[in-house]
Amino acid sequence: ALLLSTAPRALAQSAPYLNPALPVEDRVEDLLGRMTLPEKVGQLTQIDVLRLMGQDEWDRGPLNPTWMEKILADQHVGSLLSSGGAAPVPNTPETWVQVTNDLQRYAIEHSRLKIPILYGIDAVHGHNSVLNATMFPHNLGLGATFDPELTRRIGEVTARALRATGITWNFAPDADMGRDPRWGRFYETWGEDPLLAGEMVAASVRGQQGDALGPNSVATTLKHFTGYGAPIGGKDRADARISNAELREIHLPSFQAGLTAGAATVMVNSGSVNGVPAHASAPLLTQILRKELGFGGVTISDWEDIKRLQTVHKYVPTYREAVHQAINAGVDVSMVPHDAEGFTGAVLDLVQAGEISEARVNEAAGHVLALKFRLGLFEKPYADPAGATPAVKAGQDLALRAARESITLLATNGRTLPLGGSAKNVLVVGERARDPRSQLGGWTIGWQGLPASEDTRAVTVLDGMKQVVPRGSRLSYSSAVPSKPSADVIVVTVGEPPHAEGEADNPKLALPEGDLALLRDAVATGKPVVAVLLAARPLILPEEVRSRLAALVMAYLPGSEGGRAVADVLYGNTNPSGRLPFTWPKTLAQVPGSYDAPSAAGAPLYPFGHGLSYTTFAYSGLTFADGRITVKVSNTGKVPGAHTVLAFARATGATTPPKLAAFARTVLQPGETRTVTLTVPAGRFPAGAEVQVGNQRVTGGS
Ligand code: BGC
Repeated sequence: ALLLSTAPRALAQSAPYLNPALPVEDRVEDLLGRMTLPEKVGQLTQIDVLRLMGQDEWDRGPLNPTWMEKILADQHVGSLLSSGGAAPVPNTPETWVQVTNDLQRYAIEHSRLKIPILYGIDAVHGHNSVLNATMFPHNLGLGATFDPELTRRIGEVTARALRATGITWNFAPDADMGRDPRWGRFYETWGEDPLLAGEMVAASVRGQQGDALGPNSVATTLKHFTGYGAPIGGKDRADARISNAELREIHLPSFQAGLTAGAATVMVNSGSVNGVPAHASAPLLTQILRKELGFGGVTISDWEDIKRLQTVHKYVPTYREAVHQAINAGVDVSMVPHDAEGFTGAVLDLVQAGEISEARVNEAAGHVLALKFRLGLFEKPYADPAGATPAVKAGQDLALRAARESITLLATNGRTLPLGGSAKNVLVVGERARDPRSQLGGWTIGWQGLPASEDTRAVTVLDGMKQVVPRGSRLSYSSAVPSKPSADVIVVTVGEPPHAEGEADNPKLALPEGDLALLRDAVATGKPVVAVLLAARPLILPEEVRSRLAALVMAYLPGSEGGRAVADVLYGNTNPSGRLPFTWPKTLAQVPGSYDAPSAAGAPLYPFGHGLSYTTFAYSGLTFADGRITVKVSNTGKVPGAHTVLAFARATGATTPPKLAAFARTVLQPGETRTVTLTVPAGRFPAGAEVQVGNQRVTGGS
């Protein structure tokens, strides 16, 4: 009887929920009033599209009508996702449109009330699941640009590409804090600083969602709420020990900023915080997220994480109890209960038993339906095949610019770079210089990076250098270091293989053996050696190797245009301006350690904000009054350059390290001086603050 307590009303063409002129709240209420309980519970269920492809589960192939019927028609499943490698065959924009449209058509036609589905994906650096798509630098590199407007534009291009292929929900941006570089997902963060991360997250949300969600935007996801970036020992999904103060100062601001920018959905941390799995934590998911931060959108579990409350966390004895805890703690949508029927059955059973209230189901389903209305899915459920390819390929110029802005010159002898001048004869060494996989990183076609069997468009370091090598200079390539290289300078490209999640943890921050050997061989020749790192984190290079390098360049995971950007920096077409968004440790004993919570084991190798240029900058005339910091920046060198001003501040008399309070990027011609103005949020330092920009210090008030 309870199952029928909401007596379904028939679909009428004139039903209020079908009327786009009505407020979303009214449409949701009307639609919920017409749905059966099983139909509502379907909205709480998200299934991997691989389940609908091929003969067998997890078998990549054409859509299978049997599975489609089971999942979409029988279970009323409200959303699908393509995780990691779940791409249609062949992996072209046109096939994506065909598959997403076919699934959407099937879902709508087999839904009594004609409810469209949401389709989710992890487009974390462009539409990175489609071969030959433009791929942007991963977040860590974008963090080094200190350029939120660039991040906003990347979000815009990415959202257009997604929507053009029928995808409406992006599991991005990551709002985790990069507090431990050993953690495998460090590169998915914007670095260690909460202000920087918050500005970038907000910019990405604004870019992807626009001013308001609509038929040309996608829903964003702030993930993974919260504390996911600080697992003990940097071990993915391990417990995080976080004090209340640290939670509020370090881990919540980036989420808060994203929510203020309008993020439509939030994904839950797959690990635990202070011993309690986040998926079962009402304090985190309801008290903090809903009540304190005022979130009104969809909360989604991470991959299979409701089940993992039982199987991994051993937090509950049964699957039924896992569902009970998660839904009541505040999870609206279960991502990938592999057994859709098992999940919907458990929810229905719990409602029947009065352990989950029907009101809670209405609330969760209402969040999902509201999102579908806001995205304009009832009015425009299908993608137009004609728009797909151009949208997926768009943004190459932006990707190149982002990579150029991100590259960080860590060390230089001041002579070897830029190449050209006396270094005319350049030898490029190392397979990574011609391997797209190393520069694209994880979440590229495959979850753990581009599979060796696939080929995607990317300008490698070697390609880029060939494009820009000046007339009169010579360029040669060798995978290994020749015993007697006849070159003026050796450029060695080293780094990490692509990776994601647990498999990516690097507890020693070590460069792979082969890469290290290459560096050793190169410095042993006695030639000047420039090392280019394609890396997802700071790596600890042995002192005897590092100290013998002529220059060290951090390129992060710079995306499909990354090789050209590296070449531009090496040859001096681009003056490097990236600044480290994290602390680069000298030894493992210093990990974890951030500029705002320094390790007791001494000064790091390169501090947060470190980054050299081919020119020099000087500061003068720092002021702080009325919430405004002003400082004069001069380019005191011989070439034009971009420079990011970082202003740190702490309340007058405070003994904790000053924290990043504001930042701004500016471009200066040689000899030029500009006054840069930075705004500090009102009331942040009511009793005055000490402000620091480079060597300048001043005390003022806001
Ligand atoms: C990751 C999430 C991702 C999800 C779907 C999980 O393993 O932790 O970040 O959104 O998979 O692909």
